[in-house]
Amino acid sequence: MGHISNSETNSTPQATPQADTQAAPLSTPFPARDRFADGAQYIAGRLAPGSSGRRHAVVDPATGTEAYDYELAGTADVDAAVAAAAEAFPGWSGATPGERSDALHRFAGVLAARAEEFAQAESLQCGKPIKLSREFDVPGSIDNTAFFAGAARHLQGQSAGEYSADHTSYVRREPIGVVGSIAPWNYPLQMAAWKVLPAIAAGNTIVLKPAELTPLTSLLFAEAATEAGIPDGVVNIVSGAGRDAGEHLVGHPDVAMTSFTGSTAVGKRVAEIATSTVKRLHLELGGKAPFVVFDDADLEAAVHGAVAGALINTGQDCTAATRAYVQRPLYDAFVSGVADLMATVRLGDPFDESTDLGPLISHAQRDRVAAFVDRARGYARIVTGGEAPKNNGLAEGAYYRPTLIADAAQDSEIVQAEIFGPVLVVLPFDSDDEGIRLANDTPYGLAASAWTRDVFRAGLATRAIKAGCVWVNDHIPILSEMPHGGYKASGFGKDMSAYSFEEYTQIKHVMYDNTAVARKDWHRTVFGDRA
Ligand code: NAD
Repeated sequence: MGHISNSETNSTPQATPQADTQAAPLSTPFPARDRFADGAQYIAGRLAPGSSGRRHAVVDPATGTEAYDYELAGTADVDAAVAAAAEAFPGWSGATPGERSDALHRFAGVLAARAEEFAQAESLQCGKPIKLSREFDVPGSIDNTAFFAGAARHLQGQSAGEYSADHTSYVRREPIGVVGSIAPWNYPLQMAAWKVLPAIAAGNTIVLKPAELTPLTSLLFAEAATEAGIPDGVVNIVSGAGRDAGEHLVGHPDVAMTSFTGSTAVGKRVAEIATSTVKRLHLELGGKAPFVVFDDADLEAAVHGAVAGALINTGQDCTAATRAYVQRPLYDAFVSGVADLMATVRLGDPFDESTDLGPLISHAQRDRVAAFVDRARGYARIVTGGEAPKNNGLAEGAYYRPTLIADAAQDSEIVQAEIFGPVLVVLPFDSDDEGIRLANDTPYGLAASAWTRDVFRAGLATRAIKAGCVWVNDHIPILSEMPHGGYKASGFGKDMSAYSFEEYTQIKHVMYDNTAVARKDWHRTVFGDRA
């Protein structure tokens, strides 16, 4: 996810069918080994090595070559990071909103000045097409930073008042303390931004654990915070494994809140630990977004929207369009239109500016996606794709062709499970009610879209679909000002927007006696009679 402008929505990819590009890098790869020679932990304003005794490699998924390797964080590193965050908390939470806002404005400026470095690092570790990193992930994160710089001065609550004749009450909105956050690998920079910014704008300090595969841009982000003058210890990064560093962070007694983005399966484990240690909990989990096309929709718009919505970030997007439900009169044309457009998408070197689709995050993830599709062959029809490319040097990378699957049953695995790859499944429906019922028929509820020119159908879909976001005639764009978060098994709590302050602040009721009398009227309920 990130900030996508709609200014070019009418343009059509200029490509020949299956025109994979050559795998010759056009730009200088991010020098990860030199940049992070001191280690992949960022604690109290400094890079440091891990102390787990176990090393982990960052592998370029486009080539399978190792770009960086580092010692994972152990529990002692998590303890040190939490201690640094706890030490920084009194000063940072005591700063005025204006002071925090100034620091965040400077932070946005540092990020903007280093935008290209962030884009290079993100594309290296994730295999994202450089145009996606440059136009989506990085500007989206800068915009988020600028948004929270403003929002830091605008924490709101109930106004003070005499809700009893004898008292004045008001509400204080206070930071929670040290936040422990855990992020996935699909949008490492944006996830770091979504976790760090509302937390620190509200006066908390944070320890963020990025996914093991993708620590690079989280480290750059924390360094940029220091460069912007945000005090040491406010933003800390522990690059460690989920099972030890992650669980230790969630269970840590000095961590007041857990904010987790990742799969629903891991989210359940995180919830168990956080609940048993009585922590504030925010969960952003998996998705399986429906894409509902009614029979009055603009077919060309729906076809373009489906291909873009399904393939963004090689389908590794929690809000990606994964299940297209198309009303019967448009079904055949939609299937052939999507298949034709998918065939024009150019797989290639992520650093080639003409590449549309990069590899998946890893060979393991590619094989996982391929296994879902291979199992579906037994009960559904692969309309296009369904294989890894073997040409133009792409065979070494974790690539998989854009894949459209039809004729699957609603209760089949390919329709119900989160695949997290460039795979769209399409099913027909007849009545409007059936389309909406099918859209709601998975455990997830993160995002959805409805495609129609009828305002009443759009109104019904936006009311009846159970998801944290419903787009009408688009799918994917998000905004710093608007909340992102799930319904159902997609979790709870909101990222971005002023709503995220509900997660990262706690509310205190302050009540003053206005009477100055020793014997208050209500005391007679405990002793004595009315005065
Ligand atoms: P994942 O759940 O495997 O891992 C996420 C993070 O959790 C990683 O940092 C990992 O190291 C850590 N982790 C793993 N086991 C842990 C444990 N036992 N205790 C604590 N931490 C642990 O997810 P992933 O494969 O990295 O990312 C893909 C998933 O993330 C998808 O399900 C996707 O839908 C979801 N996602 C959701 C959103 C959202 O906003 N709802 C956004 C992006 C990604």
